[in-house]
Parts: sequence; C-alpha cells; structure tokens
Amino acid sequence: MKIGFIGLGNMGAPMALNLLKAGHSLTVFDLNDNVVRLLTDAGAKSAGSPRALASEVELVMTMLPEASHVRGVLTGSDGVFAGVRQGTTLIDSSTIDPASVREFSALAAQRGCTLVDAPVSGGTGGAAAGTLTFMVGGNRADYDRMRPVLSAMGRNIVHCGDTGTGQVAKICNNLILGITMAGVAEAMALGDALGIDAKILGGIINTSTGRCWSSDTYNPFPGVIGTAPSSRRYTGGFGTDLMLKDLGLAARAAKSVRQPAFMGALAQQLYQAASARGDGNLDFSAIIRLYRKA
Ligand code: NAD
Repeated sequence: MKIGFIGLGNMGAPMALNLLKAGHSLTVFDLNDNVVRLLTDAGAKSAGSPRALASEVELVMTMLPEASHVRGVLTGSDGVFAGVRQGTTLIDSSTIDPASVREFSALAAQRGCTLVDAPVSGGTGGAAAGTLTFMVGGNRADYDRMRPVLSAMGRNIVHCGDTGTGQVAKICNNLILGITMAGVAEAMALGDALGIDAKILGGIINTSTGRCWSSDTYNPFPGVIGTAPSSRRYTGGFGTDLMLKDLGLAARAAKSVRQPAFMGALAQQLYQAASARGDGNLDFSAIIRLYRKA
C-alpha cells in the first residue's frame, strides 16, 4: 500500500520503519531533516510538504506531539487537506483530546476522506519491536480495513468504539502511567535514602505487589533496568512534557464530565515542577530527580 507518514520522532520513526519492513511503499515528512534522512536511507521517499505527501498516497499516518501540530499539518495552507485525494484514509496516532479528533474527522469527511484516531501504548521499545497496542476510534468497517496496516506496527489492535474513543482509552491509560511513575520514583528514592541497594529494591518490587510497567520496564532509578531511559540519562523515551500534556488532557476531559481525578491533578503538578526545572525533554521517569539530591 502507498502510505504517507508525518512525524518521525521517538515513536514515529520506528513505526515508519516497520511499515517499510512490511513491504509498504512509504513517503515521509518531518520538520527535522535528520529523521527524514534516517527513513530515506531505509528506502522511504521524502515529500516537500504534507500537501505533496497527501497527493500521492492512499493512507496518511500522523504521529505528532500535540493537537496544535496535528491541526497545522492537516489544515495549514500546505497541509494534508490541501492535497488529499477523495477516498484517502487518515490515521492519527498522536495522543490528543477526543474533541479535536472528532473535529478533524468531520473535516476529513467533508473532503470525502475517513479519519480515525489510533493512539498507541507500548513506548519506544514497543514501537521498535512492532508490538504496540493501538486503540482505534472509528466505525467497525474502517477499523477492519485498517487493521492489516496497523498490524505491521502493533500486536494488539483494539476497536474502542466511535471516533474519539481511542483517545479516551489512551488518556485513561496515561493517567495511570503518570501516577505509577511518580509512585515508583518516590519509593525508589526513599529506599535509596534509607540505604537499600536500588537494584535489590527494584528486584523485590518487580516480584512483589508494587510491580508495574514503571517499575519493571522504565524503572526511574539509573541502573536498575539496563534498557530503561534512566540508564541512558533519561533520553529517547517518553518526554516529561508529553506526559504533562497527557495529564492536562485527562484533567480537561475529567472536568467536562465533572469527574474527580485527584491523583491525576497531583501528578500533573509533579511533572509541571519537573518541566519547570528544565527536564521537559527528558523521559518522564526523570521525575525521580524531584526526589533525589544531585
Ligand atoms: P517526538 O517529540 O519524539 O516526535 C514528534 C515528531 O514530530 C518530531 O520528529 C518533530 O520534528 C515532528 N513534528 C513536529 N511538528 C511537526 C510538523 N508541523 N510537521 C512535521 N513534523 C512535525 O514525540 P513522540 O515521543 O514520537 O510522540 C508522538 C506522539 O505519540 C505524542 O502525541 C505522544 O504523546 C505520543 N506517544 C508517545 C510515546 C512515547 O513513548 N514517546 C508513547 C505513546 C504515545
């Protein structure tokens, strides 16, 4: 299939590489020339704009930081909607608010196109291994049609319901993730301050009731999990500012239905403090730096 991919960051680049590996013909666009080169070296073609990209593919995937970026890429004068052909499918895998997805989906429908939300979970490791979970919002027929493409990048492709429900699932998942990472950071820093070896403590947590993805895959204490961002100076994972964004999405969504989200509100403040101290571009497990002396 002829696929266009926009947004080749920590997640998008490995996802796009998996589409190439599955034999799809790929055209890419990103503002960062280095990541575009990574993909063209692997066999992708590069386009000069989202508009040019959209005019030559059957399916457009977007994997961008926030709703404002997706809006710019879709609706800008050189955006996807300016070049897209009728009948093109658009899959947005960025984590954004459900209301924006519904708006973009309606704009796509006006051009005879279909847009579904398919945010992902599984981190950069899952993106590289092709084992992501996709949470798909859209009608059943569109889900069935897109499933084979998404299967090249993920293992669990779940139909969540109508447009926007993929984002609802993703926001709820990341609400837990933000809270559990702060909890693991707090416990690991406390254990360290009280004198237990961090590796021993991590090992106990990971075979005990405190075990979670934040402890056994992305443990925030350097050296506990060799493949975690904390063991490479908090680079190349899921940015603190992106987690801050997701907790903001959860807070706004909770407010819209007058639903309490006590723990999420506190976690949001913690990541905000981490961002304010200059850790916004580091992996979100760098939250432990709020707890540990330099
Ligand atoms: P990232 O910041 O690493 O990558 C974003 C990419 O988008 C960059 O390459 C950037 O140059 C590009 N970009 C920004 N504006 C652009 C524009 N106008 N036109 C073209 N390209 C543009 O982000 P990421 O970690 O890959 O995350 C992307 C999305 O996936 C976010 O919504 C994030 O919340 C979500 N997500 C991330 C992870 C993770 O572990 N990193 C996991 C699940 C979901």
